[in-house]
Amino acid sequence: MKKRYLIGNLKMNLNSIAETEQYLVSLKKEIFGKRIDGVEVIVAPSSTYLERFSRELPEPVLLGAQDVFWEKEGSYTGQVSASMLHDLHTGFVIVGHSERRLYAHENDAEVGWKVRAALHENLHPIVCVGETSEEHDQGEAADVVSRQIVEAFRDVPPLLAERVLVAYEPRWAIGTDTTPESEEIFEMRIVIHRALAEAYDPAIADKIPVLYGGSVKASLLDRVCFEPRMDGVLVGRESLYPHELVRMVNLLGEHESLEREPIQEQV
Ligand code: PEP
Repeated sequence: MKKRYLIGNLKMNLNSIAETEQYLVSLKKEIFGKRIDGVEVIVAPSSTYLERFSRELPEPVLLGAQDVFWEKEGSYTGQVSASMLHDLHTGFVIVGHSERRLYAHENDAEVGWKVRAALHENLHPIVCVGETSEEHDQGEAADVVSRQIVEAFRDVPPLLAERVLVAYEPRWAIGTDTTPESEEIFEMRIVIHRALAEAYDPAIADKIPVLYGGSVKASLLDRVCFEPRMDGVLVGRESLYPHELVRMVNLLGEHESLEREPIQEQV
């Protein structure tokens, strides 16, 4: 059975313990008694509230973090290590999010170091890739995304590569209410598969889940994710509403039976 992923990136929201508590109570209520077979649900709060989420997240929701530093420990003010995340039962960590690339000037090499640091602590890195609107308009999306994939997986051995998830998040679609057409998303899915197949082999590339992210909401799931070869969604703003998050989980679950076929090279 094909498994799908829904990753909620809460970003720098839930700005108090009270709001965090309210979110957790509401998520518990919304998810209680719901069948979510076939969907892995991961919620990534800010690092300040990871510990509280770690204690109170309702099953079967899993814990994710929004970033990690590449060094193990030391004089790195403000950073959070992979072992700190692991210690809090964090299973997943977003790396290379476009907001980190934009505001923290994170580059492709650093994203690769973070992937390796996360894998070293048995975390699942969720590697975000995607082009800017200028790159998109100049027809450079495939080159940009292929380069980001190569750098993110550099020196990652095949067995560990299978623990990584990729999220295709065109920068121009994040936080904008603009969503690419299904064909565009699927073309980029093929580009990502090709880059992974070249770095490893097609069988390994088939095993690495590829999600879509960028202004996702329940009404858009059929456009961004119900293509059988898409593996889920990374959701920002809409994941702040537990009711909407669980609604999306249910919709993804209803499509659990779609079988995954090997990607055919079409572009
Ligand atoms: C994101 O944070 O990765 C994201 C896709 O945000 P939004 O859904 O708000 O566009």
